[in-house]
Amino acid sequence: MNYQKLLDNIQRHLDVWGYNALFRETGIPLQNKHPQVFLYFDYEREFGAPINIEIDISIILDILKKNNIKATWFTVGKIFERYPSSIEQLINTKQSIGSHSYEHNPLLLYKNYNMIDQDLKKWKECSKHYNLGPLSYHSPQNRLSYNLIKALCSNGFQHIVISSVFLRKEGSSFITFRFHRKQNKLYQIPMIGDDWLVYTKKLSPNDQIKKFEDIIAQSNKTYAIGFHPWILLSDKTYLNYFSDLINMLKKHNIDLITFDDLTTNDYS
Ligand SMILES: [Zn+2]
Repeated sequence: MNYQKLLDNIQRHLDVWGYNALFRETGIPLQNKHPQVFLYFDYEREFGAPINIEIDISIILDILKKNNIKATWFTVGKIFERYPSSIEQLINTKQSIGSHSYEHNPLLLYKNYNMIDQDLKKWKECSKHYNLGPLSYHSPQNRLSYNLIKALCSNGFQHIVISSVFLRKEGSSFITFRFHRKQNKLYQIPMIGDDWLVYTKKLSPNDQIKKFEDIIAQSNKTYAIGFHPWILLSDKTYLNYFSDLINMLKKHNIDLITFDDLTTNDYS
């Protein structure tokens, strides 16, 4: 993932319109007086996962059920078409479903507005029979562009999860932003990490969990932490990491919520 490119892209728009023209700092209401965390999955199967492994998400769903957790599954549109029984499985276990694009083509997100708009419309079309909650989105490879924000707003998306690398004012903690375009508002939930650093062995599972623990302890805010089913299912180490992370969150009484738990009101 090229963070510098991502940064440059956003920075360009910030230079033109200024920080406050594109973003407004806001807050997501806390359900209780504890920090709250969205656990989410980028659900891609063969449409985005770089390695070919048997995907049986019931193993993950069992862990969630055992811990009484509902997570958000950012699901690639093509999965609705090819694996409808998997979607039923998510719905039957009361998981929340968001969009991880229709095609899972990260390059599309830097192309023109119409291509992004068409991709979002296709995702909405293939998911429309399922009566999903408020529309939420996480882009392939965590990409962001001004055209993507514009297209998400005009297609009625209300929440986006993005890495906070570039949405973090110097010296401050992670911030929730509201993108605004005319009457459409899109709330950004800061993603503080996923399973990638553990998978690529840049951090040990324990160090990654400690890092999350430190960030969350800083303030009563809302954060997102992500996973990939294909990573968790590729080796027992990662499934253990997932369970240990859940235990840490529970130990601190952190509320685990989904986008279905949020109201559609203006939060600020
Ligand atoms: Zn992905």
